[in-house]
Amino acid sequence: MANIQQKFISELSEALSSDRKLSSCDREVQNYVDIQKDRLRKKGLVLDYDFPGRGIHPDGIEHGWEARDEHYVAKMWESTNLYKRVLMKGNKTINKKKMNAAVWSCVINYLNGQNMEDEIYVCPNCGNPEKIKALTEGCPYCGTSFKMDELYPKVTAYNIVEDFSKEKKEMIRFYLITAVIVTAILLVGLPLIGAVLGGIAAVIMAMAKMDTEAILGALMVPVGIFGQFLCTAPIIGLLSASGILLIKLLIAGAKSAPLLATFSTHKMFEEELKKYGQDYMQQFFMSQTVAKLKSVIYSEDPTELPFYEGGALPDEFKDIVDVFFRGAMAFKSVEVKNDVAYVSADIYTEVLSEKNGKASEKERIFRVNMRKNISKKNDLSFSISKFMCPSCGTSFNAYKHKRCPACDNVYKMEDADWVIESVN
Ligand SMILES: [Zn+2]
Ligand SMILES: [Zn+2]
Repeated sequence: MANIQQKFISELSEALSSDRKLSSCDREVQNYVDIQKDRLRKKGLVLDYDFPGRGIHPDGIEHGWEARDEHYVAKMWESTNLYKRVLMKGNKTINKKKMNAAVWSCVINYLNGQNMEDEIYVCPNCGNPEKIKALTEGCPYCGTSFKMDELYPKVTAYNIVEDFSKEKKEMIRFYLITAVIVTAILLVGLPLIGAVLGGIAAVIMAMAKMDTEAILGALMVPVGIFGQFLCTAPIIGLLSASGILLIKLLIAGAKSAPLLATFSTHKMFEEELKKYGQDYMQQFFMSQTVAKLKSVIYSEDPTELPFYEGGALPDEFKDIVDVFFRGAMAFKSVEVKNDVAYVSADIYTEVLSEKNGKASEKERIFRVNMRKNISKKNDLSFSISKFMCPSCGTSFNAYKHKRCPACDNVYKMEDADWVIESVN
């Protein structure tokens, strides 16, 4: 049976190019994907993903890291895939990308033995937030009833990063191809030059009326060289393959060195969270932040988003149709005032933009300023689509309402989740 990661990968590959629902994901992830889909649709574009399995974990693997709260456990999954992306306008392909990737996803599940009846869940059918007890008996809005295993586990955040590791099969293929190319050059290219040079030498000697033996000797030189190459070419081929691989690794290393350096900056953030007794799952936090950043970028009017408080964004953002997170986020500053953490961070990405039918790709670092009340208990299952009003307890979809529909209270998002104050 396919595991949650495989199901997710399969759904994700069709999420943007078809109407297939991301049923392995929670409502939040679906919202984020929908916002990007709207941007593409408005621009008359089709973005198609494909993620065939490859590498060390083609079928997905669950890692040991986890975070827990009273009712839920969040775990990280990873799979290694080939990342293929095609951007089309009409029937014309205007951009293509292909590389080895690692797909990280954070999967949330309820803790076994917990009484979940009073927990809120967004009805997978109609989108209304309801108590799980009501949903298992039949949603009061649409009548559908669900079993617990249809509600959990769910992917609650994900990100895709380039994967520089190679598996044995890929390694052997790379060696063979390089060795064959180098051997071919040595066996055909060089002797050909040798033969031509030898021939020219023979002609010159003949013209200089030298004796036949000397001429034959001159002709034998390229034959000798050819013989030598015949024996050594495969070895030289293999040596060249290692050389090329080493250079490629050095280049990849140099490219990712500034990114690797960012990981030490996460320490100061983790320290602050620890003071408040909260866990820090780096991949989870980065995925969630990147998902919000993407929504702000793709949104026609980001000021409508419940977690964004900044102003209108530059026109440049309007042409962005895909954001590829490069796997690194650098904390620039972390400051806690009255239990509210103010974080400033750089997010490393590669953006795909489209303007007048022309696509362009470039590296882009986004500076994000955000804040959250870190004294509040961590709620792993928190979702903007099932926000619970702290004054009256009513659950509602905060994507649709700025105030509580029951008591008209203005909610403070920063008590439950990170609020983005600005992006540039
Ligand atoms: Zn329903
Ligand atoms: Zn209320």
